Amino acid sequence: MSMQIAQRIPFRPAQCPGCANYVQPVNRCRGYAVESWPSPLLAVFGDETDESCPRYAPAVINESLSPQDAMPAQAVTPPGPAVPTEPEAVLASMPVPPIAAMQESSIKAEGPQVEAVMEAEVQAPAPVRGVPRVHCQKCKAENPENADRCQKCDAKLLPSEGVAARLGVFIAALVSAGVLGYLVYHWYFQNPESAPNVPFLDPILNPISLSIAALLLLFTAIVVPLRRTPDYVKYRNRASRHEKLNPWQSLADLEHAMDLAPEKEQLNLLKQRMKLFEKLGFAEDAARDYVVLVTSPGRYKGEADTVSLFTGTDSGVYARSRRSSEIWMILNSGKAKAVGYCPKCNLVVELDKEKRCLQHPKIKGQEVEYIIPADLLAGELAVMQKMEAKKPQVADQITELLSSGKASAIGYCTRCTGVVELDPQRRCIIHPKARVKNVQYAVPRDLDSARKRIFKSNKQGRLGRSRTIVFILAFLMIIYATIVLLDIDLAAIFQR
Ligand SMILES: [Zn+2]
Ligand SMILES: [Zn+2]
Ligand SMILES: [Zn+2]
Repeated sequence: MSMQIAQRIPFRPAQCPGCANYVQPVNRCRGYAVESWPSPLLAVFGDETDESCPRYAPAVINESLSPQDAMPAQAVTPPGPAVPTEPEAVLASMPVPPIAAMQESSIKAEGPQVEAVMEAEVQAPAPVRGVPRVHCQKCKAENPENADRCQKCDAKLLPSEGVAARLGVFIAALVSAGVLGYLVYHWYFQNPESAPNVPFLDPILNPISLSIAALLLLFTAIVVPLRRTPDYVKYRNRASRHEKLNPWQSLADLEHAMDLAPEKEQLNLLKQRMKLFEKLGFAEDAARDYVVLVTSPGRYKGEADTVSLFTGTDSGVYARSRRSSEIWMILNSGKAKAVGYCPKCNLVVELDKEKRCLQHPKIKGQEVEYIIPADLLAGELAVMQKMEAKKPQVADQITELLSSGKASAIGYCTRCTGVVELDPQRRCIIHPKARVKNVQYAVPRDLDSARKRIFKSNKQGRLGRSRTIVFILAFLMIIYATIVLLDIDLAAIFQR
């Protein structure tokens, strides 16, 4: 995020004015924005051309916006003097709406309303996504986002890793294993004096580590080319292929990969998505991913392990200090804010750069979460969710947010057997007496991801149960096989 120069692109009179990426007031393009802090540099226009733009995204935006976003925009427009053209409609639906909402009902609750408006202003502009299309690898035809096979040539649109990639892994791993194996033989058996003597590389340059590495590589050479490609890898590969062809498809595929990938792959995928958001000019989404990335506890683990290997320092200490200095930097720069529980206030509050309560500068916040400034309320909700069982006053704090409509609660209703919206007392609206599991709180625009969290934890629960059953069955089979194979006379054992 250093000094950057905006990209220069040709103007396409046939497409640009009706494109979702076109920012009319400044006559610039969001589709070719260059990453830059605090906001991306939108591309400037040069000569005109008739060529088709690969990042053209027709501005039929009102459909893609959620109802909460779209509705207030319509409330604003009627009294206006002119009917907005399409690009103006895009802008109108961005930060303006809350003003109308405020005029209607601001007499009573001045404070909270002002807060809400300020929050909405930080959120601008709402990301406008283009239409994802899958480009066929074989015939280059464009297909709808969810198609399995190409509509033109019937090729698979989500293929496994190709033969070339597999062959590449096979050859590279086999050659490296061979080289390491030869070095072990040459240095430690054939000609023992020739082994290099570099003290700080001792942990690596010894016959045992080298042999283990050679064996692991051999194992990789055999297993990786033959394994079934995991689904998240398929999506990730397709996301990489579409980065230039159709970035919206790339984004959709990355998000799909994140839903499916194991925990240890999440940070890499997050990093990839952050870079894509930056390229597309979605500064706020990029910043959100950046904060998650920087504050994630696993972020510096790999780096710390490498450092500890070479210098002998404790990798846990190294990772913690790297992380906390990085967090201090983003809090200090204002890119992120911290929220947490203050035991003195007995509430979840915003914290300062030192992660202390703003009212009680001596008290450190607990269960701290880091968010971009626009997500302040969402961050507070996450902390409240963790604390509500222990602190009744935090539970009341949530109830208040739910009653005022600033936050929503959803959960799994055992009578509906599904995820439903809950009332401020966290009860199913249809079955007030039914048991509700897995309650999640979210700001209204974030309900989809809260729903995803519930589905994911339900799935993990099921997975855990079926795994337990498999283990028990396997254990019983091993006992049975032992009895049969060793020909143990059970009757004799019990008669003793
Ligand atoms: Zn095709
Ligand atoms: Zn306090
Ligand atoms: Zn219900």
